[in-house]
Amino acid sequence: MTARHLPDTRTPVIEVTHLSKHYRDVPAVDDVTLHVQAGQIYALLGLNGAGKTTLIRMLLGMIAPTAGTVRVLGAAVSAGDRSAWARTGYLVEAASAYPELTVRENLEVIRRLRRLSGTADDIIERLALAPYADHSARTLSLGNLQRLALAKALIHAPGLLILDEPVNGLDPAGVAEIRTLLADLAHQHGTTVFLSSHLLAEVARLATRIGILHHGRLIGEHDAGQLDHHRRRHLRLATRDDDTAHTVLRAHGYRPEPATPNGLLLTDQHALAQPEQVATILVHGGVPPTELHLQEEDLEAFFLRTVGSSPQTETGNGTRAEDA
Ligand code: ATP
Repeated sequence: MTARHLPDTRTPVIEVTHLSKHYRDVPAVDDVTLHVQAGQIYALLGLNGAGKTTLIRMLLGMIAPTAGTVRVLGAAVSAGDRSAWARTGYLVEAASAYPELTVRENLEVIRRLRRLSGTADDIIERLALAPYADHSARTLSLGNLQRLALAKALIHAPGLLILDEPVNGLDPAGVAEIRTLLADLAHQHGTTVFLSSHLLAEVARLATRIGILHHGRLIGEHDAGQLDHHRRRHLRLATRDDDTAHTVLRAHGYRPEPATPNGLLLTDQHALAQPEQVATILVHGGVPPTELHLQEEDLEAFFLRTVGSSPQTETGNGTRAEDA
């Protein structure tokens, strides 16, 4: 069955089932199963070499999986079958354009190839490319070239956008613009967005769901709104005599750990909820705090901790040939 209509919210727009791609003995993508629902912004997060581009190329039928299946918009994807390309907007690998053609001419080429009526003016406006519309692509900055690539991906108002590292090369203002554009597409137009990135802090502000890919494996999936629950928090304190402070706190049932280069860390829920009680105990114990503050792991630290504690990282050194 190849249903060509946009599925409703109960049908995943992307269904990846036990998908693998091995290059000789390197499992670039290793037994990944994931679902993306309509209207979701799903971010596939991973370090360089995690397998993001390989997975995206399989979503688009650009390469054949070693094992597993992909369904996009209700239809099975197979290598060489370009139907997925026609129904989605995509940006894979480095942004490219005809260097001698202007921005407008580049977009006109795509508009005609896609047999779209009208002009490219709307999309030029939308991607803030108007000031460069008559500049040849070879003179564009990396950021504007990326913007042009996104314009090409969006020109036919696709229901699904698949973007490999879409904010690569953009300055902070460009990143913010793209974030607003993608959020608007998802929230106002119901566009489903699947994107890859290596920046958790960036995608956490945009994505509704985040999948963490590491050495080809999907090692975690989180609703973006739930990420805060996974971030570690601790109370950091210092005194003039940390050994005594340690003894005093243990006597009150806390489990302090030494901090570097000095001071103590408390992760007890009670300490996190009521740091003022910790301060009172230290004052009464004769070791008043010289420093006391609640610290929260930032998103990048959370991400690095997550991939750092995955089995592949603990047992391997980045090359996994011995596992294959
Ligand atoms: P980056 O962010 O650096 O682009 P990525 O997460 O997109 O990384 P991939 O490009 O998918 O990662 O690569 C995953 C692994 O597969 C890497 O070890 C890479 O060297 C390997 N790989 C990718 N394509 C090929 C290929 N055509 N032949 C051999 N190995 C490949």
